[in-house]
Amino acid sequence: MTEVEELVKEMNTYKEQLDQLEARLQAIQRSCDHQFSEEESYRICIKCHYMESYHY
Ligand SMILES: [Zn+2]
Repeated sequence: MTEVEELVKEMNTYKEQLDQLEARLQAIQRSCDHQFSEEESYRICIKCHYMESYHY
């Protein structure tokens, strides 16, 4: 296997893991009873880190 092929394979492995982690995070955020911390242009849940931008 060439170095490039190894890199592509490794990247695909990480992408799959990232997808799984994102799915887990989204499941947590969907069931979270959000507790928002208000920032200047967005607010973020201190429990699950769900972020909402303000649109004016
Ligand atoms: Zn939350």
